[in-house]
Amino acid sequence: NLPLSVPITLPNGVTYEQPTGLFINNEFVTPAQKKTFEVISPSTEEEITHVYEAREEDVDSAVSAAQAAFDGGWSGADPAVRAKALNKIADLIEENAETFAHIEALDNGKSLMNSRGDVALSVGCFRSSAGYADKFNGSLIETGDSHFSYTRKEPLGVCGQIIPWNFPLLMFTWKVGPAIATNNTIVLKTSETTPLSALYLCKLIQENNVLPPGVLNVVNGFGKITGNAILDHPTIKKVAFTGSTATGKHIMARAAQTLKKVTLELGGKSPHIIFGDADLDIAVNNVITGIFYNSGEVCCAGSRLYVQENIYDEFVKKFVAAAEAVKVGNPFDESVLQGAQNSLNQFTKIMSYIEAGKSEGATLLTGGEKASEKGFFIKPTVFGDVTEDMKIVKEEIFGPVITVHKFKDADDAVRLANNTEYGLAAGIQSTNTNTCIDVARRIRAGTVWVNTYNDFHQSVPFGGFGSSGMGREMGSEVFNNYLQVKAVRQAI
Ligand code: NAD
Repeated sequence: NLPLSVPITLPNGVTYEQPTGLFINNEFVTPAQKKTFEVISPSTEEEITHVYEAREEDVDSAVSAAQAAFDGGWSGADPAVRAKALNKIADLIEENAETFAHIEALDNGKSLMNSRGDVALSVGCFRSSAGYADKFNGSLIETGDSHFSYTRKEPLGVCGQIIPWNFPLLMFTWKVGPAIATNNTIVLKTSETTPLSALYLCKLIQENNVLPPGVLNVVNGFGKITGNAILDHPTIKKVAFTGSTATGKHIMARAAQTLKKVTLELGGKSPHIIFGDADLDIAVNNVITGIFYNSGEVCCAGSRLYVQENIYDEFVKKFVAAAEAVKVGNPFDESVLQGAQNSLNQFTKIMSYIEAGKSEGATLLTGGEKASEKGFFIKPTVFGDVTEDMKIVKEEIFGPVITVHKFKDADDAVRLANNTEYGLAAGIQSTNTNTCIDVARRIRAGTVWVNTYNDFHQSVPFGGFGSSGMGREMGSEVFNNYLQVKAVRQAI
């Protein structure tokens, strides 16, 4: 008999009320079967709370609520109403920024330093969606005959959204803001390991009457039951998914049975190229951010490092020293960059890749071990002497593990960088502008960072080429995920 709200005391001493139910029709409810699951803190391995688990019948209730809200007026809600709601959500996150940052660090294991960045970007993204709410216009088409022809941009209806655990609040924001801005209604499934921040935001939305009932519905649960119930539901018109490439393939195949539109933000194995003319200190710093930020659990992590041969030895020495200086540990220590890995599963998976790297013959330059007795902490890990066919070079590890390779010239770097099925991001460090422009053009990736890395802005679109997915988040591009075009041709 889990209460629908439990008090949680955060490490900063603040106690808040954490909802545990499913958020349907602006109410927190218990699911029909009253099943719950445990949420643990990855940094202590202790239980934080339980939350309720949605099954097929609960997803069905959430979909009914979302369809009723769509039909009951939200599909035609005034742009100013949508913008006001989105700005209010941004205000609520901003006013409770420290609470959100602490919930995120507790639930995900990431450092406070990182979670504060997620919170700030979430605020920016909701404000960006608010600003776009009145800018989805069709066009008048001059056909030169006795017809009046025009297009309208229309919402899709009920959208299913499935998000991962690495940026729980930010992934919620990337999905929910654009769908609300475009008059859609939502059934969103949080990740089974990190449901807390989304539920807390729903509570603030409810208490402040931000949205009409049914516009936003959030269900907790696992992929195989709750996720599949979303994929199979005939009323849901679209699924927006962020997660692994393997699950993305399943999502696309299963959603095809009901011909849902699908957008996928998937995994990566992003190259980071350091040219001999780079400012080495800046480059080292950017490589550190590129791989150890968010404990390496970043889809666009710069996990394949390519260093030009003339600076290879000097750069690798500096980089390994910097990796050894990265502070790993208690996410609530203000000076810690790298917190815990999100779960025992994820920890075990990363450690098995480290073992694979050793047995494949790569040289472990630093790290490769657990960083503390308790909690899922791993030391920043650097492998040298790698070859292109090694598992640790080809597969997404999704942890604080980087491989270092040598290259001769720009052609060699581009060939090595593009030798992947993925195409999410890439980094270039160089002081030669022509090199940067040339290599950025030739790299196959949805984002190229030049003299920076893991550097996001709400106005700049993000998404993948190849096996890294389809569709874009943020910027003006994201709204295409949630609009369809109607053509009207009227005889006059
Ligand atoms: P995951 O694919 O295991 O899970 C993602 C979500 O899908 C979770 O909510 C999970 O419950 C759900 N899910 C799992 N199996 C399902 C199924 N059979 N049917 C329906 N839903 C199912 O991914 P993860 O481990 O949570 O996240 C890490 C992955 O996400 C990494 O590969 C990372 O690169 C990727 N990612 C991509 C982006 C991006 O923008 N491209 C951003 C963040 C994370």
